[in-house]
Amino acid sequence: MDLTRAAAEALDDADPLAGFRSRFAGTDDDGPDRLLYLDGNSLGRMPLDTPAALARIAEEEWGRGLVGSWASWIDVGTRVGDVIGTGVLGARPGEVLLADSTSVDLYKLLVAAADARPGRDVLVCSADDFPTDRYVVAGVAAARGMTVREVPADVDEGLDPAVLAGALDERVAVVVLSVVAYRSGALADVAAVTATAREAGALVLWDLSHAAGAVTLDLAATGVDLAVGCTYKYLNGGPGAPAFLYVRRELQEQLRQPIWGWFGQRDQFAMGPAYDPAPGIDRFGVGTPPVLAAAAVEVGAALVAEAGIDRLAAKGRAMTDLLVALADACLTPHGTVLASPRDPARRGSHVTLAHPAAWQLTQALVDRGVVPDFRTPHRVRLGPAPLYTRFVDVWDAVDRFRALLEDGAWRDYPQERSRVT
Ligand SMILES: *Cc1c(COP(=O)(O)O)cnc(C)c1O
Repeated sequence: MDLTRAAAEALDDADPLAGFRSRFAGTDDDGPDRLLYLDGNSLGRMPLDTPAALARIAEEEWGRGLVGSWASWIDVGTRVGDVIGTGVLGARPGEVLLADSTSVDLYKLLVAAADARPGRDVLVCSADDFPTDRYVVAGVAAARGMTVREVPADVDEGLDPAVLAGALDERVAVVVLSVVAYRSGALADVAAVTATAREAGALVLWDLSHAAGAVTLDLAATGVDLAVGCTYKYLNGGPGAPAFLYVRRELQEQLRQPIWGWFGQRDQFAMGPAYDPAPGIDRFGVGTPPVLAAAAVEVGAALVAEAGIDRLAAKGRAMTDLLVALADACLTPHGTVLASPRDPARRGSHVTLAHPAAWQLTQALVDRGVVPDFRTPHRVRLGPAPLYTRFVDVWDAVDRFRALLEDGAWRDYPQERSRVT
């Protein structure tokens, strides 16, 4: 691979998605000292159309329309859910709902799935999964007297499907897994894992948080039954944006979720005496949708759909390929170690590097205008978002990283994290 800056510029010139960058805030500075934002997988950039969408709902629909605007708000969860489902996830209409947070949606679908497998008393998750996923699994198991089987997963390479298969038997009700590992970016084989679990009689609940908007997810074609995911990462829905949940159409009527709210009720405004779940995906709703926040999600998800998930995934692979090659050439000689799968087919859109001084390096990089994320244990995570990061941004970020390792200025930074960030 040609690792010159000119080669990175040539990749940008040939990039069919190049035009999307200018539709995000903060991308107009092209100078050598510009901010190199490689944390769009933690909080995506703001689309330039978002403030106007929020202002329109606030001023027109709320400000002037008042309660009369409810007609355009009542179905926001399914409307934006379909934008995400059909435009980003490869789901069919009516299979995705925008509601609550990822953690709460995980809880709702996990309880619903466990109820659908009576007589089975084990929940399986990955020992290396994102904390909230493991905590929700543990909480549901504790409340129901079930047992958690945490499957060991390699921190850098992800879960070995054979190890998972060994943990499945007739006691397992539900398996909770992430499609893209939040730390390493390791990508699971969704179709194979789903099929293996189904053979064992278990349901799989996938967390798509680091995958949605970054990798191709054909939920319908790959036979996925249940999924949740967040919208403020690659979907650029903004801080605290509501999450989405997906339930395969054929399964919806069999499942009942545990929070019986009026937004999950059949014929909601009949205000009936007892809970009777609505048909379809609506039954997984609980309360009034966050209308303003949903408007921001709609703008972000529509941009991803417009760009096309296959093109985004291809660019993500190309950018992480370049990042890995540059890291091998410029950073490994200074002590970093690749902490992500080397095979691009086994990665999402981020790359992680291990270094004993990762916390110090992360702070020093931020001060030099490169924004990565620190992850335990001693890892620097670099997430080039394919919608607005350029190949030259990757090149320049590695160049600043190399200069920092060479001049050693990171040694002046505190060795320990002193506050929660
Ligand atoms: C970001 C992320 C979440 C976020 O959960 P919230 O409830 O939205 O805070 C959950 N799971 C995974 C795997 C994530 O990466």
